[in-house]
Amino acid sequence: MSEAATLRELLAAHDVACDGCRYNLRGQTGGVCPECGREIRIERVRGVIEARQWRERRMPGDRLVMAGLVGSLLGLGYAAGAMGTLVRVMMSELASPMRLVLEVTLWPLVVAYPVLAWVYLTRTSWITARSGRARLWLALTAWLLAPADLVLVLLPLVLAAR
Ligand SMILES: [Zn+2]
Repeated sequence: MSEAATLRELLAAHDVACDGCRYNLRGQTGGVCPECGREIRIERVRGVIEARQWRERRMPGDRLVMAGLVGSLLGLGYAAGAMGTLVRVMMSELASPMRLVLEVTLWPLVVAYPVLAWVYLTRTSWITARSGRARLWLALTAWLLAPADLVLVLLPLVLAAR
């Protein structure tokens, strides 16, 4: 296939902005930008398309999904910390009401974050296809689960200390 034909094929399928005026060259069949007359270079067009595909393969394009992914990965740190605390609590001589509070509040963290992170990492397209509201709630859950849980753990302790 000639370079001109390859270029036409690439521009038929992709949005590529003109280097000179940012005009979208998609669908152009000539060798120059119809807006500013600048030459359309095939290496440049290829580079732009490849860079975009590289980005899209590596990170979700949606900001809410991205935010949720980051939150759930940070949450894995909380889950590991909660697991350690849980083990210490179970091995300790802590009195039973306090022990119950800690056990009940720490378990959800240990279980929920690995599940959330797993969903975000392996079911990214499923999440991306959810409605905006669902994606927002999922991202909020990923970020707020640990702080909310911390309040649940600390509140009884603070009340008991008074
Ligand atoms: Zn142009």
